[in-house]
Amino acid sequence: MVRLSGPEAVAIGRRIFHSERPLGDRSRYVEFGRVANVHGEEIDSGLAWVLQGAASYTGEDTVEISTHGSMVVLEGLVEAAIAAGAALAQPGEFTRRAFLNGKLDLVQAEAVVDLIQSEGQEGMSAAYAASSGRLSSHVGEIKGMVVQALSWIEVELDFAEEDIEPQQQRQIMELLAEAGTRIDRLTSTFETARRKREGHSLVLLGRPNAGKSTLLNALVGEDRAIVASTPGTTRDTVEARIIWRGETVRLMDTAGIRTGEMDPVEQEGIDRSWRAARDADCVIVVVDSTLPWDQSDSDMISRLNGAPCILAINKCDLSKEVELPAEITEGRSLLKISAREGAGVDRLGEVTLQQLAKARSEHGIDLLRQRHHDLLCRAGDRLREASGLMDGQGQPECSSAILRESLQALGEMLGENVDEDILDQIFAEFCIGK
Ligand code: GDP
Repeated sequence: MVRLSGPEAVAIGRRIFHSERPLGDRSRYVEFGRVANVHGEEIDSGLAWVLQGAASYTGEDTVEISTHGSMVVLEGLVEAAIAAGAALAQPGEFTRRAFLNGKLDLVQAEAVVDLIQSEGQEGMSAAYAASSGRLSSHVGEIKGMVVQALSWIEVELDFAEEDIEPQQQRQIMELLAEAGTRIDRLTSTFETARRKREGHSLVLLGRPNAGKSTLLNALVGEDRAIVASTPGTTRDTVEARIIWRGETVRLMDTAGIRTGEMDPVEQEGIDRSWRAARDADCVIVVVDSTLPWDQSDSDMISRLNGAPCILAINKCDLSKEVELPAEITEGRSLLKISAREGAGVDRLGEVTLQQLAKARSEHGIDLLRQRHHDLLCRAGDRLREASGLMDGQGQPECSSAILRESLQALGEMLGENVDEDILDQIFAEFCIGK
């Protein structure tokens, strides 16, 4: 497809695309015709249509010509368009024009790149949410709150003889607190979104020798982790990246959790296990069904702090069966498995995937870009600084100046008063034709 955008688009389009009714004569109509090269020779047939001004992506008159797709035909067509007065588009130029003509804000324009470059379902949904304007309107609402708080402060500064009235002060503080919470919620999605793009993380946790490595191998289907009968063999986290029904999952086997005397290497391994478990999208706690449940097991579960966890009661091929306290099993998925024999492993995989899918759908809008994260952090910091000042010594003049900086960061995110070189940098990521 060849796309022309600008005030001369229709005139140039008519010179290179010959149809019975001239292009643009009938609005919203697809014309059949023949495309001509620079010498006016017809080289292919195709379809073309005109999108007028505001109705187009760029906000300018746009002609789109679709041919059979040979590179020779396309090059001939582009050459003819240039000879007729068109200029070759720069990478991202169509989206840049759309931004400059107010059809998109900068967040939406950036999301177009993210959408084009997205590889997994996760990144695609987040980019789509941003490109369709959900992130922008959320940021717009936050900005509205800051504007409101600022206007209340300034009215008070203009008219009040004394300090800001306590009731008004309370309202301002509440508004700033709400805006701050919303900013924090958004910034916290940046890390999660990045992790999700790299794959869901699933951690295997449990006492040494519970069968974590055996389970990892059973789930992955190859001998990735070292299986041994001496407790404490896995001293570090072992990671396997697997694709489960189209979802990328980073599966991590961790050092066995135990308490008591141990060397520093084992201690470091256990600390890493906790870090991995805390950051995980889901934890499978592997329990050795042949050993009695004790307080340290309960402590391990409560230390997970409510992180999504599945209890895998392993070694069910052996006749002994551990009894778990009711408060541990309540509200948690519990599955009996034999990692060594493979019994129940498929079912465990299914339940785990359901859990991971749940973790995903809980997040609505995700931040994908460092620029957005940095600007929101700046906006949030200024906001907190301003409300600290208002709350403490009551310095509304300073608060107002600092709030303006917060507002500026929010505006910059949406593309208000952004430097040309920042725009160049953003649009350089695009490919030609977008
Ligand atoms: P980890 O320390 O938790 O990673 O435990 P391993 O996977 O290294 O397993 C410890 C021992 O338990 C090994 O001897 C395994 O063969 C054994 N084991 C693991 N899973 C099972 C199981 O389902 N049934 C039986 N009978 N033994 C198992």
